[in-house]
Amino acid sequence: MKLATFESGGRESIGIVIGDALIDFARAAPDLPSDMRDLIRMWPQVEQTVRALPSQAQADVPLADVHLLAPVPRPQKIMAIGLNYADHIAESGREKPTVQTWFSKMPSAVNGPYDQVLIPKVSSQVDYEAELVFIVGKRCRHVRKEEAASVVFGYCAGNDVSVRDWQFASGQFVLGKSFDTHAPFGPWIVTPDGLGDPHALGVRCFVNGEKRQESNTRHLVFDVFAQIAWISQAMTLEPGDVIYTGTPAGVGFAMKPPKFLKAGEVVRVEIDHIGAIENRVTLEL
Ligand code: MG
Repeated sequence: MKLATFESGGRESIGIVIGDALIDFARAAPDLPSDMRDLIRMWPQVEQTVRALPSQAQADVPLADVHLLAPVPRPQKIMAIGLNYADHIAESGREKPTVQTWFSKMPSAVNGPYDQVLIPKVSSQVDYEAELVFIVGKRCRHVRKEEAASVVFGYCAGNDVSVRDWQFASGQFVLGKSFDTHAPFGPWIVTPDGLGDPHALGVRCFVNGEKRQESNTRHLVFDVFAQIAWISQAMTLEPGDVIYTGTPAGVGFAMKPPKFLKAGEVVRVEIDHIGAIENRVTLEL
């Protein structure tokens, strides 16, 4: 099942995506939450109702008529793992880590799947990172790896947009990873039953149609479940938390010479069985 957050006529709503149209909860089931975090939090109570909707209501809202937002527009937190594909570790000139490398992206960086990514006034070193993103489904702490699948609500395609000079200016990545608009993900959440094995998904990134990254989540150094087991030792994960799972080789800064994003370029991140996000790069005014 694909669940999207969208805006139409100034109103934000959630819907189930079927083909190129939506079932709008606000019309088909107005008692359901209108906010994705609330929906995820209440999932044990509402799942049956949601799953019954496609047999009861028409997908009568064309995707072309709505503005898709980030599926979780206001997450409590966004965590991201670095150095998590062997080929990207090699191109970064680093050793394969024995400990997971985590940083955060601030929730204020959230961006929609087809919205503009800004080149900020203070840098010209904006770069892409195509990543599988997952959404936490339950409040949890100290999750064992063998149980971690049960706390995943679903999966998205994401771009861990990075401002390289700010990222490497100090020992802390957070500012370089948290510029406004630099956490696009979506275009919807695919629940695990609609995806198959999350560790067998092709991941690709294109800049203006030119393929820059191509890999598969089977090459993750630390897989999704190992990630959950690790970070939940430190922090409580909450429904709707957004986790970026790392990027493969092919990022712009590792090219010789480096190729950073330029205004007017379109970055497309696509993942098998999920779909694609596409963001046009624009100068901040
Ligand atoms: Mg990344």
